[in-house]
Amino acid sequence: MTDERTNPTTVDAIVVGAGLAGLYATHRLHSMGLSIQCFEAGSGVGGTWFWNRYPGARCDVESLDYSFSFSPELQKEWRWTERYATQSEILLYLEHVAGRYALHQHYSFSTRIVSAHLDESSLLWTVASEDGRTWTARFVIFATGPLSTSNIPAIEGLGEFSGRILHTGQWPREEVDFAGLRVAVIGTGSSGIQAIPQIAQKARHLFVFQRTPNFSIPARNFAWDGEALDEALGSYDTRRALSLASKAGTPHPSSPTRTFDVNDEEREALFEAAWERGGATFSKTFADQLVDPAANQYAVDFVHRKILSIVEDPEVAKKLLPIDHAIGAKRICVDIGYFETYNRDNVTLVDLNATPIETIEKTGIRTTAAFYEVDDIVLATGFDALTGTLNRIDIRGRRGQLLRDVWADGPRTFLGLAVAGFPNLFIVNGPGSPSVLANMVLTAEQHVDWIANAIAYLSSSGFAGIEANVDAQDAWGDHVSATAAGTIIGKGHSWYTGANIPGKSPVFMPYVGGLDVYRTRCDELAASDYGGFTLLDAATSQGVTDSS
Ligand code: FAD
Ligand code: NAP
Repeated sequence: MTDERTNPTTVDAIVVGAGLAGLYATHRLHSMGLSIQCFEAGSGVGGTWFWNRYPGARCDVESLDYSFSFSPELQKEWRWTERYATQSEILLYLEHVAGRYALHQHYSFSTRIVSAHLDESSLLWTVASEDGRTWTARFVIFATGPLSTSNIPAIEGLGEFSGRILHTGQWPREEVDFAGLRVAVIGTGSSGIQAIPQIAQKARHLFVFQRTPNFSIPARNFAWDGEALDEALGSYDTRRALSLASKAGTPHPSSPTRTFDVNDEEREALFEAAWERGGATFSKTFADQLVDPAANQYAVDFVHRKILSIVEDPEVAKKLLPIDHAIGAKRICVDIGYFETYNRDNVTLVDLNATPIETIEKTGIRTTAAFYEVDDIVLATGFDALTGTLNRIDIRGRRGQLLRDVWADGPRTFLGLAVAGFPNLFIVNGPGSPSVLANMVLTAEQHVDWIANAIAYLSSSGFAGIEANVDAQDAWGDHVSATAAGTIIGKGHSWYTGANIPGKSPVFMPYVGGLDVYRTRCDELAASDYGGFTLLDAATSQGVTDSS
């Protein structure tokens, strides 16, 4: 590798993002001896867990699994206090990781990257920050997050509101006190479903503005006691091995039993056991649950019965029933006391399907039926997912082509890691990878390891670059679409397809095939001297091998 450490504006690799993916990329690339410069728009590390500080924010993959696996020492020294850690505990953990591996020193914080331009002749990227500074590097790794650009809905009058407007994904660092206030929450996805029970406990009155009801499964969260945690830490190797061999990156296998293999009574008992166990593994109760709509309907009916049994007012309960999509078609939610919250006297559910919002005014929200006077509005309205963050950066590859133009009809990537026409640019947890459908700590580790190994290979083989081939990229895109077509995942109005963002091309973006299958495919390509990629010569920037 070139040693340009004397000139800090020219480095081997640039990493954008200090979420868990960026932190691991920084650690890995620095350990390889590369000179690196890293950037983060926020003032600290943590990514998702830096920004999403809303009350109730937690992971929904168990913390023992939603944590780094690359270091056995790190893995054993961190003692999670709960099954599903809070945002603050996950942030503490990521700060601990950054401190342990001295990662802060590589970052320029509060620095938003606004452009990345390729010089085709030298195969170098020049990256610029919002304040006009520039850096040059051979490799650029965008670890900018699949869920890092908030969706602020274009509701008429939002700007006129005189109270606080808080988006869950841009929550203030200081504590937000709702005591004695009338609060509106707009949105009932995972963020809203976590925040609503917490806000209801503090606010004078909470109005929940719901457009689409969602499926949610109780978390059955618990605090670890010392002995049980010791035992779990003692069997970490087995736990990780199961996760790495799985589709979702967790150690809980899907049941081999199919919905119609059992009678009604047995089926009910299995659903009941899954409901009692809690968490997103409810989707794994039966092997065919996410594939066969008829099988899925049994799971839908079960959860409907649960909602009707928890919510005391039958009219409110009915409005909370998700009826427009299969369970698992959108990301399943995991909650602590969500449906129970509607039994509180200080909570009102506003059904936006029956009475849509007309305008937001200075003192509240007007629907077609009523005016709701509120002090604060919480937007739990989600994200411009997977492509939104990258499309906001002026990324120009060969012949000056803009990435967002190339992706105008939906993202095309090879393995979610690379894009034809953008040599030496890598994406972590991007579209076309299993990221958002799996445990994203493990997907980040896998992506970063693959990228780091590819860079090491280029260096040891005397190549200056690597670029995805168009035909391999097209074949991967077709495979991503075909795999999704065989399941019920994504068959609904959701961020998986970009349907939550007006004007976004509706394309199912993540890879449904599973982390296990994906990892094997990535490993095979690496082992075949990077099949599907062209390896580039420094002097000419032309391909000297076309491995497709
Ligand atoms: P991020 O954590 O999003 O980090 C990206 C960073 O890049 C951000 O800090 C951002 O500021 C920075 N950035 C972006 N653009 C720029 C730019 N132009 N210049 C400089 N910096 C930039 N996943 C799971 O697997 N399990 C869970 O339980 C889970 N729970 C979640 C809970 C919430 C509330 C949310 C919102 C998401 C959750 N996710 C979960 C998904 C989560 O996003 C990923 O698990 C993971 O944190 C992504 O890490 P990342 O490093 O890829 O991206
Ligand atoms: P989301 O799932 O996209 O939900 C957004 C909500 O806002 C939906 O209910 C949506 O309604 C509503 N909405 C959007 N625009 C609206 C408008 N103009 N008027 C009224 N309602 C509007 O976003 P999210 O809840 O932030 O979750 C995003 C993803 O982040 C999750 O799927 C998950 O992957 C991750 N996450 C995980 C956790 C966790 O439990 N660990 C917590 C939070 C987030 P419609 O459905 O009708 O569009």
